[in-house]
Amino acid sequence: MINLKFKKIILKPRMKGLIQRLLDDDHPIAVLDDHQRPIIGNLNLGDFQGYEISIENSIVGWVVSPLLDHPITQMLIYLIETEINKKVLAIDALDKYEELNFLYDISAKLSTCLNVQEVIKLMADEALKQIPGNALVVMIYQDGMMQVFYPKQNENQVILGQKISANLGIYGHVFKTGQAEIVNQVDLDTRFISQTFKIASLMCCPLMTQTGKLGVIQISSDRTLEYTAQDLKLFIALASQAAASIQNALFYEQLREYSHTLERKVAERTAELEKVNQELNQLANLDGLTQVANRRCLQETFNREWYRLAREQGPLSMIICDVDYFKRYNDTYGHQMGDECLQKIAQTLKKTLKRPADLVARYGGEEFVVVLPNTQASGAWIVAQEIQSNVRNLGIEHQASLVSPLITMSMGISSTVPTHSTSGEELFEVADQALYEAKKQGRDRMIFREFKSPISPSQRPEPRRNDGFYRL
Ligand code: GH3
Ligand code: MG
Ligand code: MG
Repeated sequence: MINLKFKKIILKPRMKGLIQRLLDDDHPIAVLDDHQRPIIGNLNLGDFQGYEISIENSIVGWVVSPLLDHPITQMLIYLIETEINKKVLAIDALDKYEELNFLYDISAKLSTCLNVQEVIKLMADEALKQIPGNALVVMIYQDGMMQVFYPKQNENQVILGQKISANLGIYGHVFKTGQAEIVNQVDLDTRFISQTFKIASLMCCPLMTQTGKLGVIQISSDRTLEYTAQDLKLFIALASQAAASIQNALFYEQLREYSHTLERKVAERTAELEKVNQELNQLANLDGLTQVANRRCLQETFNREWYRLAREQGPLSMIICDVDYFKRYNDTYGHQMGDECLQKIAQTLKKTLKRPADLVARYGGEEFVVVLPNTQASGAWIVAQEIQSNVRNLGIEHQASLVSPLITMSMGISSTVPTHSTSGEELFEVADQALYEAKKQGRDRMIFREFKSPISPSQRPEPRRNDGFYRL
């Protein structure tokens, strides 16, 4: 309802002056307010006929005169009504301006919200500033149900209520018909379903977007109010803003969800691929029986270390280990036991090596190669001793051995500081010759052979065996 100060209009200098002139000329007239209290004029005219001045069916004042039909009285009434109409128009224009401003303001704020709860909270705060009421809820339709969002007033949170049927209540009707409604006395409306908070009057509006109906928005009051068509119009405008923003936020949330799922899937796939890759790498680099490095891995590692230590001028040592009388072991205990023996020896070799860069590889059959980067001959000798004692401590019985009742190994050791004019093959040859020597001297021992370099190609001995390893 338009709030207009009738008394103020009558007492405006020009209006007041005019009425005063009439009174001075003895024209019997008085102007009263809506409670029939005199504002100006002859105060004794209380019993005479009055003309009611009203706006939108409500009386704002009276013009009283025994000469109500007199042209001068009629002229004054006309002037007062014109003045009031001007004022009503001005107030109306101002209201519209304020509404527009409000909508503009709210749409600017909403455009920065990226999640549904934020949109709802903002809507509630702003709507309740401009439209009478004390609660606002938003219901979003999903699979035949409404998800209710209750923004908590004065608190920065939105409570996610229960899901309720989308077909019941006033909200259900509004959602179904797509028509906004005012219900000023909910207790007289049979469709009303009481909610978790007190409602006496409400306005409910569908949330419409270009793609369809999203749900409803409802503003309510715990005291009985007279919501007007004007209030509803503003609420509808607000609801259309809300619908667009909620839709955007829902899209954004879906997008975020989708991108999270995608990221998770990519991460899972990457992990799977890494695992497969690792397994493939293991297959490519590990010996199947003993689970230590295989020959391929040995060659790669040895080459890499050779070139690195040639650059850094650091020592590189190697030990070639060969199980003694292993053919006899197989013949005595069977091939299966032979395999198990090789596994135990391989794991013992692995455990004996302490530095991360040290490597043990199964070179083939019952032969293992240990590569010791940044280790001098004396260090390699100590490692070989440890290997010998750890293998002996395994206590693997070998009745057929001609050197010991337990499994033993012979080892050939060599060491050098790699250079670009020497090759890894040569170091290997020297270590192999040392192993040969150890076998020749009776087995279960280790022999160190000095690596004398460079050996010119003509002086180079024939490889003791031709098994490809020398082409490192
Ligand atoms: P030496 O002391 O001179 O080294 O005698 P040896 O019997 O150990 O050497 P030889 O080269 O004559 O025989 C090696 C045997 O190692 C032959 C083969 O039966 C056995 N062998 C090689 N690879 C495997 C394997 O994977 N599993 C088993 N159980 N035995 C193997
Ligand atoms: Mg052998
Ligand atoms: Mg052997």
